[in-house]
Amino acid sequence: MNRDESSTGVRTPTRARPTAARQHTLREYNLALVSQALFDAPRPRSRADIAAATGLTRATVSVLVDQLIEARLVRELPPVTPLRAGRPAVPLTPAERTIVGLGLEVNVDYLGGTVLDLTGQVVAQEVVPGDLHGSDPAEVLGRLGALARRLVEDVEAQDMQVAGARLALPGLVDARAGRLQVAPNLGWSSFLPLPLLGLPDRLPVEIANEANLAGLAQLVAGAQDHRPDDAAPPVPSSFLYVSGEVGIGSAIVIDRELFLGNRGWSGEIGHVVVDPHGPRCLCGATGCLEQYAGKDAMLRAAGIPVDAPVETFLEALAEGTPSAREAATSAGTALGRALANFVNLVDIETVLLGGIYTDLLPYLREALTTELTTRVLASPWTELDLRPALVAGHAAMIGGARTVLRDVVAAPSAWTTSD
Ligand SMILES: [Zn+2]
Repeated sequence: MNRDESSTGVRTPTRARPTAARQHTLREYNLALVSQALFDAPRPRSRADIAAATGLTRATVSVLVDQLIEARLVRELPPVTPLRAGRPAVPLTPAERTIVGLGLEVNVDYLGGTVLDLTGQVVAQEVVPGDLHGSDPAEVLGRLGALARRLVEDVEAQDMQVAGARLALPGLVDARAGRLQVAPNLGWSSFLPLPLLGLPDRLPVEIANEANLAGLAQLVAGAQDHRPDDAAPPVPSSFLYVSGEVGIGSAIVIDRELFLGNRGWSGEIGHVVVDPHGPRCLCGATGCLEQYAGKDAMLRAAGIPVDAPVETFLEALAEGTPSAREAATSAGTALGRALANFVNLVDIETVLLGGIYTDLLPYLREALTTELTTRVLASPWTELDLRPALVAGHAAMIGGARTVLRDVVAAPSAWTTSD
């Protein structure tokens, strides 16, 4: 099992913790420790809280916190007077609209970008629908690059600073080499996408797999957004995230880390075989899951033009249109078979359904459950928990932007001026 995040451009939250002291000066190391403690905290913490959590002296923490405030990573909230005697504590919280990350994505029926700030809020977004089957990479990435420059100019004009960008692609990505190996539904293979964006050199950009970034967004959302008084249970530490679009990808999360595999290519559930005698897939094989449960396949089966938005299919389902219901049952059956194969191999209890599956889940659930009950050996003792994704819309862009910002939090000395 290789969990080396540098091979994929994806960094999981637990990996972001600073551990390699020899690579840092002591100040850089301690600054990262304080930064991580502040950003990991479920609620604002004071300097004294951070000292207690990190084992650093209060004097050292105060100096480092001041540097993080000056670098615009952290801000102070109004002082809170303690119940017992003592000085009022000043809670510290991630800064809004200062340093931001850019998540870019090309998918088969849209391209776009999302800018997030350190609090996790979307500060700018542009998504352009369009049919990108068999498209020209230079034209599409040139267009995405122009969109990215617009977003960057927009947020820079509001005094925000873009720390970097991640480009999510629906295919096999060699992040270290910056190479897209293949994206079957786009009809793209074997080239270097990043130079085609034409972004300024000052903006560091990496590529990553769409489903892995979207899966990461679920993991971070589960950790950050959950409060002890929330009614809904938090995201479990191990789950499968399934990204339903025209193609179908997945992210395998085991013990809060993405399981990427040797080359970062795990999770291609869209090309799991459902029926070898089935229709030809764009990957060259026959009867892949995408040919039954991908967006195009479902819309075609329902008698809806494949360039229609998924909302058209949802409306037909809500009205009880028989062809739509049959298409959903067929898709749910195929997806249930693929998930049963996965769960028989990997003992996880939760599947998060993302992309278009988030809204389709009520119409897929019965067929999914039938297949899982029939095919999962362990089904008499456990029921697979099928849930809508926490981050549903454009999760790969959100995950990409969050990955950039996690790097900022993990290595804040790049943003401070003090020595
Ligand atoms: Zn295939």
